[in-house]
Amino acid sequence: MSFKSLGLSEPILKAISKKGYETPSPIQAKAIPPVLEGKDVLASAQTGTGKTAGFTLPLLHLLSENPKEKYRPIRALILTPTRELAAQVYANVKEYSEFLNIRGAVIFGGVNQKPQAATIRQGVDVLVATPGRLIDLESQGLLSLKRVEIFVLDEADRMLDMGFLRDIERVMKLMPSKRQNLMFSATFSKDIKKLAYSILNNPVQVEATPENTAVEVIDQKVYRVAKGKKTDLIIKLISDGNWKQVLVFTRTKHGANKLCKKMISSGITAAAIHGNKSQGARTKALAGFKNGSVRVLVATDIAARGLDIPLLPHVINFELPNISEDYVHRIGRTGRAGASGEAISLVSADETTYLRDIEKLINMKIDVTIVEGFEPDPNASTEPIKPGQNRNQNRGRSNNRNSSSRNSGNNKSSNKSNSRNRSRNNDSRR
Ligand code: ADP
Ligand code: MG
Repeated sequence: MSFKSLGLSEPILKAISKKGYETPSPIQAKAIPPVLEGKDVLASAQTGTGKTAGFTLPLLHLLSENPKEKYRPIRALILTPTRELAAQVYANVKEYSEFLNIRGAVIFGGVNQKPQAATIRQGVDVLVATPGRLIDLESQGLLSLKRVEIFVLDEADRMLDMGFLRDIERVMKLMPSKRQNLMFSATFSKDIKKLAYSILNNPVQVEATPENTAVEVIDQKVYRVAKGKKTDLIIKLISDGNWKQVLVFTRTKHGANKLCKKMISSGITAAAIHGNKSQGARTKALAGFKNGSVRVLVATDIAARGLDIPLLPHVINFELPNISEDYVHRIGRTGRAGASGEAISLVSADETTYLRDIEKLINMKIDVTIVEGFEPDPNASTEPIKPGQNRNQNRGRSNNRNSSSRNSGNNKSSNKSNSRNRSRNNDSRR
């Protein structure tokens, strides 16, 4: 199997080989042919399996085959849930289209809209966008989606998690009804299938791996530990192991900041990345992490979603996520594209239920280690500490214009949820 045999054009093959890809990943091999045939496609494959190229390569092929116009209307729209992801997908679009006469652009919130609007005014073939800024610019008359031929919904599961359903529906009304639709997702829930039903016409469904299985090359470990000793344990693990590039997940922004400070004061360079950080700060933190000047990146789920950090050797869950699927996404940050990696979870008594749910989802028991001096507290309660307990800051406040609808959506689901409080935290805290 080669990219050439999938039917991609020479300029695209050249860009792929420049990027160093030798063979298509399984999801690419499955998704590219039907996309090239102009079909609607619903594709799911776990994080880190190359979904971006799975839709971008055939999309570029299709656009470059059709005659170009002097005035460039937006002919392809790629919707992503977060700014980081939008920037990353755009970077890929640019690389893959290097030898084509195709122009791309990216728009997202949190930064001045003027340069974005100016770029679009000059004509853009492929637009990568987050929903909020897209709707903003459209409603100001600064862009039109009336000529969109191909619509891509990337990380569709996260879109739903983040409460973007309304925005997605709104965006769909702005496009011509006759168009090709592609939906890509890491997980494949009932809600995703429902959304797919409303967006896709007679879709080809492709799946590269069984849903929700953790990548086997990832070595997963659980450290049982007393809640109050987690910080010291994580610092010990990173120092003793002399780990140079560690991604750490916390459940809240506040927790991320606190842990980051502790790391720095014990001599480990660290940066935090979460929804309250400015775009500049996030970009800087990620760049520092990638180039090795920042050893530890502490992130919340939403901020980390979709980040492309190649060959990351260590991922640590400082706290387990209360949504089991998030565990799969988190550990998907290691062992990417076939490289091996280690995923460690620090688990205190109150997280016992979360651990059990995760093991059920990934259908395996994770090995448990206890480090001397950091033993779990035998008297601690195994009741989950409820999200939001002891914490009332930041409720309903967010950095994103969609926050109000997003939060109300989440609150609704938490009312419905059972006493174990498995509902997603208020997004403004993550
Ligand atoms: P996903 O969207 O499925 O989480 P990405 O599209 O972000 O995954 O790709 C994950 C990583 O794999 C990226 O660093 C990307 O450059 C790399 N990659 C993608 N396709 C290939 C390929 N065919 N061969 C080698 N690496 C690839
Ligand atoms: Mg992706």
